[in-house]
Amino acid sequence: MSDDRTEGFALHCPVPRDGYTTIQMAHGGGGRVMRRLIEDFFLPAFGASPSDDPPHDAALVELPKGRLAMTTDTFVVSPLFFPGGDIGRLAVFGTVNDLAMAGATPVALSAGFILEEGLPLETLERVVASMRRAADEVGVRVVTGDTKVVDRGKGDGVFINTAGIGVVAPRVDIAPRRASPGDAVLVSGDLGRHGIAVLSVREGLAFDTELASDCASLAGLVEALLEADTDVHCLRDLTRGGLAAALCEIAEGAGVGIELEEASIPISAPVSGACELLGLDPLYVANEGRLVAFVPARTAQRTLEIMRAHKAAPEPAVIGTVTKEHAGVVQLRNPLGAERIVDLLSGEQMPRIC
Ligand code: MG
Repeated sequence: MSDDRTEGFALHCPVPRDGYTTIQMAHGGGGRVMRRLIEDFFLPAFGASPSDDPPHDAALVELPKGRLAMTTDTFVVSPLFFPGGDIGRLAVFGTVNDLAMAGATPVALSAGFILEEGLPLETLERVVASMRRAADEVGVRVVTGDTKVVDRGKGDGVFINTAGIGVVAPRVDIAPRRASPGDAVLVSGDLGRHGIAVLSVREGLAFDTELASDCASLAGLVEALLEADTDVHCLRDLTRGGLAAALCEIAEGAGVGIELEEASIPISAPVSGACELLGLDPLYVANEGRLVAFVPARTAQRTLEIMRAHKAAPEPAVIGTVTKEHAGVVQLRNPLGAERIVDLLSGEQMPRIC
């Protein structure tokens, strides 16, 4: 939280709106207009009530028993609004999902906004309302935040940083080092929707079927897996770099091999068509509501059933196994039996998709 109280906020009561319509640099660095922005938009949007305490430099959060998990992520997606989501939804779910991947129940978020001078307030209002809806869906609160304004042309509308804290229940241990030979590798749904949805708007591409981002919270799904005692060893959300990047990191980190069956990896026809057109490999395309799970072979079927019953896992599948051989290497077997190595890309396949 900034030392400058007029730039930061911790929940307190709202005041009536002033008569401005865009973000203004002249007043941006602190002062009355910035204060109004915080009081008119952020505080009411994130659920401040008149009974809340007056503004303070930090929010106090009560925590249940357990270990604290903490994460942060910055969102610079372009465009701000895309089929299936927007930067606000992404900023909430992105951080919530990273907490969930550690087996944590999300408790509270912070939100830092970098606003470009000239940004219509209506746009900011839409983004903030969307964040609130997303937070409500998860049952998490945005309890503190910060705003900064930069000169026209020095930003791109809105950038958002969110940090989150969550609590990990006593016996939960979900981590890459637990991925073990014999584990089944599952994905929660079809891959590549987010990256292709954003890219299609950005490049003005039209497809026969509208492709929406998979942007969603995975917290409920993880909770269901934990409740069912599936002994999940490792979880990873398949964001930037897609399934390929996630699996390469885990294989290397755990010192195990991973063998994938290409035919069992769910990819929708529109995504595979778009990837072909754009020269992209769907295994590397970003998702914002899909995870990969490593579970012992004995709980693989049960995990699959729990996923099938959950709305956040639309098309779950067992896609491979963990091996002792080929430590650190991910291999993909095609339907004809030919194998190829899935490697990390040297560069970024798609910039500004999250
Ligand atoms: Mg992640």
